[in-house]
Amino acid sequence: MCDCIFCKIVKGDIPSPRLYEDENFIVIRDINPLCKVHDLIITKKHIKSVNEIEKDDEKIFASLFTVAKKIAAMENMSESGYRVVVNSGKDSGQAVPHFHAHVLGGEDLKGKLQGM
Ligand code: 5GP
Ligand code: ZN
Repeated sequence: MCDCIFCKIVKGDIPSPRLYEDENFIVIRDINPLCKVHDLIITKKHIKSVNEIEKDDEKIFASLFTVAKKIAAMENMSESGYRVVVNSGKDSGQAVPHFHAHVLGGEDLKGKLQGM
């Protein structure tokens, strides 16, 4: 059995309200928000990090930034701005080994969250 927390959320084994869902991604709010808006775009497929993305996965990631743009619009950040962050591997501080992109904003982030 897969012991991955994000796989459990994707499968619905751990309930987590979805802001958005399509064939490749779900989007949920981060459980420990680092700023006013902190959402996570999570692949439905278990891919450990950017480093494990295979050629075949390119079709999944083609829409990643348009999903981020949709989330920014839903969260009213299109005009004010936002940050999209992907940690990959040990030195980045990646804590959950299942691909996710952070979408952060809702406040002025200049000079903030540099160590996330
Ligand atoms: P990473 O450091 O891997 O880039 O970020 C992992 C993020 O996932 C963290 O911001 C953490 O708060 C969030 N997170 C970890 N477990 C859960 C969970 O069970 N539910 C939600 N919504 N977020 C989680
Ligand atoms: Zn997983």
